[in-house]
Amino acid sequence: MRALVIEDERRLAENIARGLQQGGGFAVDIALDGEEGLYSAEAAVYDVIVLDLMLPKLAGEEVLKRLRERGSSCPVLVLTAKEDKNHLVFVLNAGADDYLAKPFDTGELVARAKTIIRRSKGHSASRLVLDTLVLDFSARSVHRSSKALNLTPMEYRVIEYLFLRMGTVVSKSELLEHLYDFNWEKFSNVVEVFISGLRRKIDGENDVKLLHTHRGHGYSLRLPADHGHFDS
Ligand code: CA
Repeated sequence: MRALVIEDERRLAENIARGLQQGGGFAVDIALDGEEGLYSAEAAVYDVIVLDLMLPKLAGEEVLKRLRERGSSCPVLVLTAKEDKNHLVFVLNAGADDYLAKPFDTGELVARAKTIIRRSKGHSASRLVLDTLVLDFSARSVHRSSKALNLTPMEYRVIEYLFLRMGTVVSKSELLEHLYDFNWEKFSNVVEVFISGLRRKIDGENDVKLLHTHRGHGYSLRLPADHGHFDS
């Protein structure tokens, strides 16, 4: 998954980025003021935006307002130093999905970011289940038929994204956009490698194949069409 951090205190921004990368397996871009943040938010596809309110050039409230006015439904986690509850109500009404008051624990930020992403994609549970395949967001683990799969960090990120888009065909470029930062084009030839590793680990000798390649279109995680439980 891919996150945008809009925060003008560089060290804090970098700490948040590191937390999201290491604790959540995110690809992260940083914007250091409101204008740059708004530009970045509209130039790329993000799964979550972490937005500070006190920003130079364009205040966080204004960034949020303009994003929502322009139809963005990207989940936004607001960072606030302001204790004023009325202000928070205003921010939440303006379209923020959640907020954290500074100072905060980076681990909590990562957990909240993942929760609002999951909700935004229509999943409320912290475990996703497809047939005998189970992904646990909190533990960042994947099991098939109760057996833990030993995935590399990149394989986990690929399957996590496919799980969030379960049942739909995800193109290679969409996958890359959500896995890498701005230089994603140069990784385009490695997706097949992750997919074939995943297919071996997830499906292997299993009769019911869950990870599918749609030649020329992308990949999907779903029950096979002839399995009878999946109607699409
Ligand atoms: Ca600030």
